[in-house]
Amino acid sequence: MTKPKIAVVGSINMDLTTSFDRMPHQGETVHGTSFATYPGGKGFNQAVAAARGGAEVSMVGVIGDDAFGKSLKTMLAKEKIATAGIKTMTGIGTGTATILLTEGDNRIVVVPGANGEVTPQHVERQRELLTNSDIVLLQLEIPMESVKKAAEIAFEANVPIILNPAPSQPLSKELLDKITYLTPNESEAADLMTHYESRKALEEKLIITKGKQGVMFYEKGRAVTVPGFPVTPADTTGAGDTFCGLMSTRIAQGYSLEEACQFANAGAALSVTKPGAQGGMPTEREVLRFLR
Ligand code: ATP
Repeated sequence: MTKPKIAVVGSINMDLTTSFDRMPHQGETVHGTSFATYPGGKGFNQAVAAARGGAEVSMVGVIGDDAFGKSLKTMLAKEKIATAGIKTMTGIGTGTATILLTEGDNRIVVVPGANGEVTPQHVERQRELLTNSDIVLLQLEIPMESVKKAAEIAFEANVPIILNPAPSQPLSKELLDKITYLTPNESEAADLMTHYESRKALEEKLIITKGKQGVMFYEKGRAVTVPGFPVTPADTTGAGDTFCGLMSTRIAQGYSLEEACQFANAGAALSVTKPGAQGGMPTEREVLRFLR
């Protein structure tokens, strides 16, 4: 089977994770127990899930001209994700998420940095890349006007659009009307319902992820559940991103929504058994073996 083409327009981050025994008080210094950097950002995560799942993936985004940016670009290439749509910008840092981890508590500070420079003009310059794709996959970690621009270009060219509406924020009817599928988790789905007047029109697009329970969507007004797979989770970070990348790949390959969700549930279940968002993302072969 030829690989489907997926364009991901979104965020690229370096996650900086520091672990320690207790939070320092104001003005205090404590010794940490470990520090590690991991590639992240919903855009990059979903691109990796789709690429490992069997798609030919192109990433559209912006990184800074710094060590994190260089390292992330190398990691993208290692995953065989095309980087022609990634701009390297001087004078701004690559996006970061600083994660402070102690027993039973975590605190995260996200600095969008270069992700905030994914402008509608940059997206416009990638028009050909988007219109030549089988699916355009979007999230909400870049400026809203750029999400709208990407949706506008794909919609005009009849390219299906999958939007993972995270982090949650109000979405215009104009944008939602262009989206083929929305993949919120339960709390994001509840937020969407309050912002969209036509519940029925929204329902037709919704694929709601429900953690270990799997997903549900509506078919001709009836709720359909695609159950999750029981596993022993080690780290659920990135489960939603794994689901979105894999589901998009299967939809682009022509599978039914139910088949795509089953495959993506299996892949996301596998991903939570290993630490790190991208660390546990399985290959297509691993998912198929798990499903056998
Ligand atoms: P995250 O923010 O942690 O990435 P999310 O809140 O966006 O996740 P969830 O609904 O928690 O999304 O999970 C997405 C999908 O991952 C689920 O639909 C399911 O397929 C799978 N999944 C998540 N947690 C588990 C689990 N504990 N066991 C098995 N599968 C899981």
